[in-house]
Amino acid sequence: MNITNDLEAIRSTEEKNVTEKGTLYLVGTPIGNLADISERAKKVLSEVDFVAAEDTRESGRLLSFCGIKKPMISYFEHNKHERGGYIAQRLLGGESCALITDAGMPAISDPGEDIVRLCAEKGVRVCIVPGPCAAVCALAVSGLPTSKFIFEGFLPVGKRERGAALSELKDQTRTIIFYEAPHKLLRTLDDLYEAFGNRKISLCRELTKLNEEVIRTTLSGAREYYKERSPRGEYVLIMEGASLDELKSRAFWADMSVSEHVEYYVSQGNSKNDAIKAAAHDRGVAKSEIYNQVMIK
Ligand code: SAM
Repeated sequence: MNITNDLEAIRSTEEKNVTEKGTLYLVGTPIGNLADISERAKKVLSEVDFVAAEDTRESGRLLSFCGIKKPMISYFEHNKHERGGYIAQRLLGGESCALITDAGMPAISDPGEDIVRLCAEKGVRVCIVPGPCAAVCALAVSGLPTSKFIFEGFLPVGKRERGAALSELKDQTRTIIFYEAPHKLLRTLDDLYEAFGNRKISLCRELTKLNEEVIRTTLSGAREYYKERSPRGEYVLIMEGASLDELKSRAFWADMSVSEHVEYYVSQGNSKNDAIKAAAHDRGVAKSEIYNQVMIK
């Protein structure tokens, strides 16, 4: 152990913990359980000049739970353009601001994204005070592969945009994360089933709250389940990605024999060797396997 290095590390953390002027703090807040607020979040919220909140009444409850009194202004979807400019002006004037949203990590599927972009354009410092994010919490508890994933957030509501978003995901092999509101859950489960077939899905509901529930099932199982009950609370849907078998069944060469597959690449101007290599790559097998089959013929 090197004591000088340790002291240095502690000092630099302390420096990071000084709330600075002219800075926007993106403060992660609980996704339901108020006890999940971090010590650093409380410190920053109590030290900044003002708090910008998506819903000042909702966030007022959080601040009073933490014993913090602070001037608050609203910053939400329908005032974000005018209000974003106003907040940036105050930051440029030397004040500090903490941005909090209704729940979780600001800027993830909420208007926080726009003010971060604006501050970056205007050269205002933006600091992160991490907290829970519903997407990551749900992924972790889903029981589905977590090493590679993509975040879709809310699917578009319009039929055409939704269809386009779903068809873009068809060949995606990574685990897919969606946010959904309870009154739209059934339609979304139907649309997912229609687009992807009977994939595995974990429905993560009311995480960290009294009625926390994780249902690990399939799309048809989920549709059955919600035929009997009304969806309630907030949901994150974690759906498995396409399997290799599924991708293979949709590939242009799915109905070709191995030799036809190789011949196809030859007809595209490739050498026999490159054609064997390409077919092996498509099928996810060793080149020697294709070579043996083609040469035996
Ligand atoms: N920025 C937040 C985050 O990433 O944690 C999400 C904001 S988004 C407007 C709200 C959506 O997050 C909800 O509709 C729901 O899909 C998800 N969500 C938030 N809290 C949740 C909870 N406790 N359990 C399950 N899903 C939740």
